[in-house]
Amino acid sequence: MIDRLTAVIAAIVINFCLIGCSDASKNEESVAQYDIRVTLLGTGLPTPNPRQLGPSVLVEAGDTKLLFDCGRGCAHRLWNLGPNYLRGASHLFLTHMHSDHTVGIADLYMNGWTQGRAENLHVYGSAAADTFMHHLRLAFEQDVVFRADRQHQIATREALDYEWVLMENGKSVTIGDATVTSFDVDHADIKPAFGYRIDVGERSVVISGDTTYSENLVRHSIGADVIIHEVFSPAIVRIVREMFPKNVADDIVSLHTLPPDVGRVFTETQTRLGVFTHLNNDPAGIPELIEQTRTTWDGALEVGEDLMVIEIGEEIRVIKPSSD
Ligand SMILES: [Zn+2]
Ligand SMILES: [Zn+2]
Repeated sequence: MIDRLTAVIAAIVINFCLIGCSDASKNEESVAQYDIRVTLLGTGLPTPNPRQLGPSVLVEAGDTKLLFDCGRGCAHRLWNLGPNYLRGASHLFLTHMHSDHTVGIADLYMNGWTQGRAENLHVYGSAAADTFMHHLRLAFEQDVVFRADRQHQIATREALDYEWVLMENGKSVTIGDATVTSFDVDHADIKPAFGYRIDVGERSVVISGDTTYSENLVRHSIGADVIIHEVFSPAIVRIVREMFPKNVADDIVSLHTLPPDVGRVFTETQTRLGVFTHLNNDPAGIPELIEQTRTTWDGALEVGEDLMVIEIGEEIRVIKPSSD
């Protein structure tokens, strides 16, 4: 953990923000005083954007590393955090099967294997997740022949086996000190679509996945310390309405949550910190996004950016990769 923090500090400009406390010396004292550490690996949308890679969240509880979705660049982000992050990322939870949340899995699966993943990859999700992994394995068969059958000292066929775990509304699994519970959210016709709640002792974080306002998400998120929620920002709504006919634009907007509705989720759950993800975080659009959210939520709020770290303990500390 210390190595990683050192590397992050060396590589990027750090901006500390302690929720409810701005005293710098207290920030220093609070290092490692947390139960859950969240890293936003990618906060972007399907449209390529070098500043924001695809949706993916890393949740750490002690030595346990859990991945939630694996969009564009997920394995790359892990490797940049340190080779052991890619090697140690063997539990992948999928919210749903939209490609912006899954296109990074090939890289995670195959290069995690060739770089010495410690365990077989465990993939948690719907039956469609198993189908996806089955075909991915077949798609790379020639690579397996090249590598496993010639260089089996380095990469064996067995090490590439994956384990699929079916997730359903209300199902929990425990990995190390973390209990992960899946719950149904509302992503229109995309069913199932899950959100996840991760509990570690008394601390918790919720990841919404893609959804419109969801009562079931609110029900499962009561008392969560942090909620990382998708948002359909005003700027994106305008772009969609300019690009597509009304019926198509209405359909796209109906898949997602508008800022005042995300604010309702934060207020109804009384979370300690609400975080936006799955957006274009171009600074020009942020004031309008915040203004609309403030009509329904007056608590702590962060606009997610790639490699933002959120440490959750008695205090919640947000470490931003850039100070804007
Ligand atoms: Zn989606
Ligand atoms: Zn998406």
